[in-house]
Amino acid sequence: MIKKLLIANRGEIALRILRACHEMGIKTVAVHSTADRDLKHVRLADESVCIGPPSSMHSYLNIPAIISAAELTDSDAIHPGYGFLSENADFAERVESSGFTFVGPKAETIRIMGDKIAAKEAMIKAGVPCVPGSGGAIPDDPKICKAMANDIGYPIMIKATGGGGGRGMRVVHDESDLLESIVLTKSEAGAAFNNDVVFMEKFLEKPRHIEFQVLADNHGNAIHLCERDCSMQRRNQKVVEEAPAPGITPEQRAQMGEAVSKACIDIGYRGAGTFEFLYEDGEFYFIEMNTRIQVEHPVTEMITGVDLIKQQLLIASGEVLKIKQGLIPRGHSIECRINAEDAETFVPSPGKVERFHVPGGLGVRVDSHIYGGYTVPPYYDSMIGKLIVHAEDRETAIKRMRGALSEMVIEGIKTNIPLQRRIMEDTAFVAGGAGIDYLEKKLGL
Ligand code: ADP
Repeated sequence: MIKKLLIANRGEIALRILRACHEMGIKTVAVHSTADRDLKHVRLADESVCIGPPSSMHSYLNIPAIISAAELTDSDAIHPGYGFLSENADFAERVESSGFTFVGPKAETIRIMGDKIAAKEAMIKAGVPCVPGSGGAIPDDPKICKAMANDIGYPIMIKATGGGGGRGMRVVHDESDLLESIVLTKSEAGAAFNNDVVFMEKFLEKPRHIEFQVLADNHGNAIHLCERDCSMQRRNQKVVEEAPAPGITPEQRAQMGEAVSKACIDIGYRGAGTFEFLYEDGEFYFIEMNTRIQVEHPVTEMITGVDLIKQQLLIASGEVLKIKQGLIPRGHSIECRINAEDAETFVPSPGKVERFHVPGGLGVRVDSHIYGGYTVPPYYDSMIGKLIVHAEDRETAIKRMRGALSEMVIEGIKTNIPLQRRIMEDTAFVAGGAGIDYLEKKLGL
């Protein structure tokens, strides 16, 4: 078993990982920037090391500093959390070649899944349905490009194979814009990702975002833990997530779950991961795999009773997966991301939290690192926590979330709680099954 874990992250996920370690008897090492000395998990960790100045580039993304901290503290494993270095194959490689355990998949798997063309090829081979497209890089010949786009049918999307974070993609509605869009996306991708290879796929107009959680061990076992619906998005950023996805039948769940579990075995996957799909007219289309824990993992934990972080640590320790397929989701869970930002303009609102009243009661969970007197620094993501509820059915879960949101008081900084309250009252959200385009339209964006 891992004895001492270095947590290469900050904020709520660092605290979440620390809590799992405490329960498992694993010692913890927090690494932090000079702006993050007051983070809750830094105070609670067995040891802490300052790894650099506020800028992430020189702290949370500073690979040599993190590896040195692991050596200095005699840690035996590193958990990357989400964001930062969590999907950086070079980091995973450096961690392992320096003699530490990386809590995540093998570097080569991260590398394949981080390349959209390679990931799609692997999924097609494994029998996972993908968005119809060019099936590889777009060639230079304009005639072939036009023929390809016609075959797929407009609107289409030009995507950078190395893209991420919603960047490096462009929608084309008409042939007259095709060639210019390819050139633009290529040059942007070359500058942003150092890789100008682009491909083409069908643009789905009003899909839902539905993703499947998986767990796979080093011994050839892989299971799925049902799906989540993350369609409430703004600028490709998830705002509300829920599990299970409204309207998905047990048969669809079993079929897709089996496909993704089999894909895990095919690609030699290890650890926790997520297969993201667009879902339209009853069909699933794979878009990407996230080779790490996700922000929205708690909704899956609530309906399955499985602690995903503990499972990551057990798998990384080489244990055999003890959970068998056949989990039946229990009830319904919803997560609202709480951000330090203006609820209307979305302008970040860092600063001192003067007061923090935490909601509670049956089926209410708060994953947050903030506390009264804590100052939210301006340097990082504006998410300051997650409010999660669990209830016997979706209708009760929505009512429980409304109550919890109205109990939650954060003073001193602006938050998106008013927006979350609006979403919980929204007719389309309450009905379930809104598409990824819905929230921006509702907000008039
Ligand atoms: P990234 O790695 O940048 O997150 P993804 O491939 O996961 O890229 O796509 C991000 C988002 O872009 C999706 O959640 C979806 O909203 C939109 N998107 C991607 N591909 C398509 C498509 N073929 N049709 C419609 N929307 C898409």
